[in-house]
Amino acid sequence: MNMIIGNGVIANRFIDYSLQSSYLIFAGSVYDSTSHDEIAFRHEEESIKNALLNNQMSVFVYFSSCDILDLDKANSLYVRHKIQMEKLIQDSANKYLIFRLPQLFGLSDEKTSIVNYLVDAIVEGKSFDLWRNAERNLIDIDDVHLIVDYILTNKLYSNRIINIACPHNTSILELVQCMESYFYRSAKYNLVDKGASYYIDISETLEIITKLNINFKQGYILKAINKYFRHLINKPLLLSVIVPTYNEEHGIEEFYRRTKYVLKILEPRFDHEIIFVNDFSTDNTFDKLQALSKIDRCVKLIDFSRNFGNQIAITAGIDFSRGDLAIIIDDDLQDPPEVMLNFIAMWSIGFKVVYGVRPIRQGVNVFFKLLAKIYYRLINRLSDTKIPNDTGDFRLIDRMVIDKLKLMREGNRYYRGMVAWVGFSQIGCTYERDKRYAGKSTFSIKNYINFAIQGLTSFTDKPLYIVSLLGACIAGIGFLLASILIVNKIIDPSISIRGWTSLVAIAVFLGGIQLLSIGTIGVYIGMIYREVKGRPLYIIDKTTNLNE
Ligand code: UDP
Ligand code: MG
Repeated sequence: MNMIIGNGVIANRFIDYSLQSSYLIFAGSVYDSTSHDEIAFRHEEESIKNALLNNQMSVFVYFSSCDILDLDKANSLYVRHKIQMEKLIQDSANKYLIFRLPQLFGLSDEKTSIVNYLVDAIVEGKSFDLWRNAERNLIDIDDVHLIVDYILTNKLYSNRIINIACPHNTSILELVQCMESYFYRSAKYNLVDKGASYYIDISETLEIITKLNINFKQGYILKAINKYFRHLINKPLLLSVIVPTYNEEHGIEEFYRRTKYVLKILEPRFDHEIIFVNDFSTDNTFDKLQALSKIDRCVKLIDFSRNFGNQIAITAGIDFSRGDLAIIIDDDLQDPPEVMLNFIAMWSIGFKVVYGVRPIRQGVNVFFKLLAKIYYRLINRLSDTKIPNDTGDFRLIDRMVIDKLKLMREGNRYYRGMVAWVGFSQIGCTYERDKRYAGKSTFSIKNYINFAIQGLTSFTDKPLYIVSLLGACIAGIGFLLASILIVNKIIDPSISIRGWTSLVAIAVFLGGIQLLSIGTIGVYIGMIYREVKGRPLYIIDKTTNLNE
């Protein structure tokens, strides 16, 4: 004979009681506190009456609801029904135990359970109303089973109503926040000024909870979410960390240590790969990286055939990354790896690009800082693509952006501009740029000037228009001057024109302007020349751990 009536979360969990004839477990059919389904209510009543009639010898165990204690719901059909059922059992059962339960964590696809409802809304990105003041004493059905089992086997109570609940309240807002951080999704809710908390007296079970060593404290909710909803996170996401690397033998191990530490924190949610692109280092960097790649399969190496420069190194890293998201970071610890956590937090609320903004630059002189400030503002004035001020290459990019960047094969690469050009929702994240951990910057003044010109010319052709405009203005002035001279000569033919010095000054000035214009045009032609050749952007000597 089956001693369990019901087929929901509770009945399923108490399946081990199905052959124990001393107990009849009635884990009824109605557990939706918003239900108005009178037919279901009547059906439950009928089956309770039936069960009572047929099982006079066994203890009638009925699962009721803590909602009865919620004054807000005192008049709801559901609560009135549950009170009636309790009364019916109290009046007609020889031996009974009634357990009142709060909302549960458990294996069920019951859509009306608060937990399932919220998880579904968050995972599917549906919007919902969130009751700001509502608090619940959510409990894991496994813990309910433990407690009830203990009470029944030890015959602790008879003919009583016993509340079983988590000893402390969790607000629904907290619950939603737990789910958000677990699923790395942001919930779309409207906060409404509704709900309340209510007191549940659990003095009968407190001692049992201590005996059974059930830990309702830290992380109870998160653990329960992980237990029942892990399957919704099909597989952890993959985070690619892309590191252009050049002559960093003294800092590279420390860089690895700090980065790995951060990646370990992220481990439950993110698998990772660290792609070092060795830009033909001439020191011991490569050997050190090789050693790391032997002990850690997540360390992947791309070794260039010669030095191609850091923008190209970044390109190779992006080309080979398999991640759902990638973070580009320098190897010299100027960009603190810990900031990656902030980037990811912002990414998880929906931004496709999170770029580091560095208003404070340690270890950079005042003159250089000023120059950089002027440069970024100038480039923004001239270019149609708005490149955020004070940013570097340290940034997070989503797979959507990675795929677009991979389509952009221009040889003249200026990543912060290219990323800006791609679009999508982007946001800055301010951080403090540190001093180099070891060694010194490999960027010489010449590099910086080249890089600046590259940045300027690859994102705007306005300089070409500016020199044309300059030419037109000067020609206009020349025409005006000539006209004045001719008119003067006609009015007074005896006039003689002097001024050798001014003539030379004008000639030199014009010569300068011409050379500047030709130079500007030349820069663009050079760019075209390089692009037209269509050479590969880089040549790889060898790779390590990359093919798995
Ligand atoms: N880098 C590179 N190839 C080069 C020069 C530099 O891949 O030819 C890398 C370097 O290892 C670092 C990043 O680019 O990860 C920035 O270089 P650096 O720190 O020298 O520049 P700074 O921070 O001074 O601008
Ligand atoms: Mg640096």
